[in-house]
Amino acid sequence: MGNVGATEVPVLLSPEGLRIDGRRLDELRPIRIEAGALHQADGSAFVEWGANKVMAAVYGPREVHPRHLQQNNKAVIQCKYNMAAFSVDERKRPGLDRRSQEISKVIAEAFESVVFAEEFPRTSIDIYIEVLQANAGTRCAGLVAASVALADAGIPMVDLLPAVAVGKIAGKIALDLKKEEDNFGEADLPMALVPQSGRLVLLQMEGHMTPDELAASLDLGVRGCREIYEKMKAALRERYAATVPSGGTP
Ligand code: ADP
Repeated sequence: MGNVGATEVPVLLSPEGLRIDGRRLDELRPIRIEAGALHQADGSAFVEWGANKVMAAVYGPREVHPRHLQQNNKAVIQCKYNMAAFSVDERKRPGLDRRSQEISKVIAEAFESVVFAEEFPRTSIDIYIEVLQANAGTRCAGLVAASVALADAGIPMVDLLPAVAVGKIAGKIALDLKKEEDNFGEADLPMALVPQSGRLVLLQMEGHMTPDELAASLDLGVRGCREIYEKMKAALRERYAATVPSGGTP
């Protein structure tokens, strides 16, 4: 559940049922998604989600590096998630650590379920996720950004992959945990959804929940994902409207 920065436990839920930032239990933090934020990449997206700031860039389908990863029947999907040294309160040690390796792996696997990789044998689709500012839920923000970046790159997919973390704070199930809630809460459950089929392609959990709480969390998370899905589609529509002259054909 991330690093515990402070020692004093904050009040996570007021008697009125409001969270530390004034949200209700089923409310998302504000999200802004910009498709095509970078010029060099084949596809890109910038996501501001609460105090998270995440950039994703996609290259490919292109030649596979390192070569031995090449597959004859499909594209390999490679993901590199990185948190900038200045992304957290106390400077994070730069470079690859176990956490970023794990996050890179689960994100790549989530996209393997939706990208039509067989259409591009012997190639690589490379996803880079850079967390510039972190405030819990960065793997979900990374998934959302990467998903929009993949669509922006024109990579064929079954669907976009909205993602959100649900958790347990002060004994209650809450949508989209922020840093203090992640640090001092009882559980953290990030998930990514294929909206078309309702299938979850990423589901992790830290902490403890009863089976009933887990069911309620999945329900709340799926609803949150559907809300985020609409914002992802709107960002792509906005990008598309900006690049196609009025009356023009795509
Ligand atoms: P996620 O960002 O997907 O929620 P974690 O639960 O592992 O992933 O991390 C929660 C939060 O803890 C991160 O978003 C970040 O704010 C903070 N965090 C993670 N790793 C570090 C680190 N090495 N140093 C300082 N803060 C960190």
